[in-house]
Amino acid sequence: MNENNYIELEELYGAHNYKPLNVVLCKGEGVWVWDVAGKRYMDCLSAYSAVNQGHCHPKIMATMIEQCKKLTLTSRAFRNDQLGLFYKELCELTKSHKVLPMNSGAEAVETVIKTVRKWGYTVKGVPADKAEIIVCANNFHGRTITIVGFSTDETSRSGFGPFTPGFKIIPFGDADALEKAITPNTVAFMVEPIQGEAGVVIPPDGYLKKVRQICTTKNIVLILDEIQTGLGRTGRLLAEEHEQIEADLTLVGKALSGGFYPVSAVLSNQAVMDVLRPGEHGSTFGGNPLACAVARTALKVLVEEKMVENAAEMGSYFLNGLKQIKCPLFKEIRGRGLLMAVELTAEAGGARKYCEKLKESGLLCKETHDSTIRFAPPLVINKEDVEWAIDRITKVFTSY
Ligand SMILES: *Cc1c(COP(=O)(O)O)cnc(C)c1O
Repeated sequence: MNENNYIELEELYGAHNYKPLNVVLCKGEGVWVWDVAGKRYMDCLSAYSAVNQGHCHPKIMATMIEQCKKLTLTSRAFRNDQLGLFYKELCELTKSHKVLPMNSGAEAVETVIKTVRKWGYTVKGVPADKAEIIVCANNFHGRTITIVGFSTDETSRSGFGPFTPGFKIIPFGDADALEKAITPNTVAFMVEPIQGEAGVVIPPDGYLKKVRQICTTKNIVLILDEIQTGLGRTGRLLAEEHEQIEADLTLVGKALSGGFYPVSAVLSNQAVMDVLRPGEHGSTFGGNPLACAVARTALKVLVEEKMVENAAEMGSYFLNGLKQIKCPLFKEIRGRGLLMAVELTAEAGGARKYCEKLKESGLLCKETHDSTIRFAPPLVINKEDVEWAIDRITKVFTSY
């Protein structure tokens, strides 16, 4: 089978809900991946930040294999010997009180929506079925009906209604808008510290601090969706640390397993998570011993191998490298840690063709929203790799 054969199979038998670059990968190690013809690429997407620890991290792999031989799934009808340790280690690392384990990011978002609604009715005293949750324009929180219902991206939502009521949308980065949108029925504000899918949109300095104050004053729950920004991506373990705040509920997923297995979690303070009683929420696979073991090692290597610190250091080196490129097609270059983006001008005619060129030169990137290219390599990237990447990006953008 050659590359085209694999592509034909996908096109023939698969749903066409993605439009991937035509590269067929079969192997990965650290920041590198290889296609079926043996060509090597640097992964500058990291599966949307799910492989922060690098592809096929040997220690996570060893844990996965070991745990597979012992026990993989018990369901939560019974306890397992990995779950408590996973909770404890995740809580200690993130300074949380409680964890609710799920699988995909979208499930963690659904979980948090249920939790804050319940909190609203049982603790805050909101009348039955009146709870409101405030979210931001250009958000990305996943793909379920409820979640796409409060998306502002037409491609994500159009054709999928009717949607779940109870959401209000305000502009991102505008704390005054939040203050104005809150009513006695508001139970929570959910926001991404940096909007990744929207094109790495960084809010003004002090935004999260103000948001934290408003949520505290008005007695609403602050939910940070750190599924993409969390676990080292922005140069801090959680992006909330950039503004020294603590969310009431934090969502993590993606890199929680280092890319081996879908593992997500809702991290909570005591007061909010305590509203959930037995039988009110669950998941067959959530908190299974394989997921917990894999996640424990994924967190361990993140700390042990100083990947968070490396993301801060290599992130500024990479961003600086991007800023050195003099290209009239660059409208804006932005980033925090190893979550970076180059927004192209209208004259560039869309980011896709540059992603194709970058691919030819050995760099795998993905456009977000037509005109922006995100650069988010695994956090194990070193200086030499950054220079290699910048060299290729420079060549692609200065040949225009
Ligand atoms: C990827 C992502 C999600 C959804 O995660 P899935 O595992 O794809 O369901 C939610 N929120 C943010 C910020 C994300 O980046």
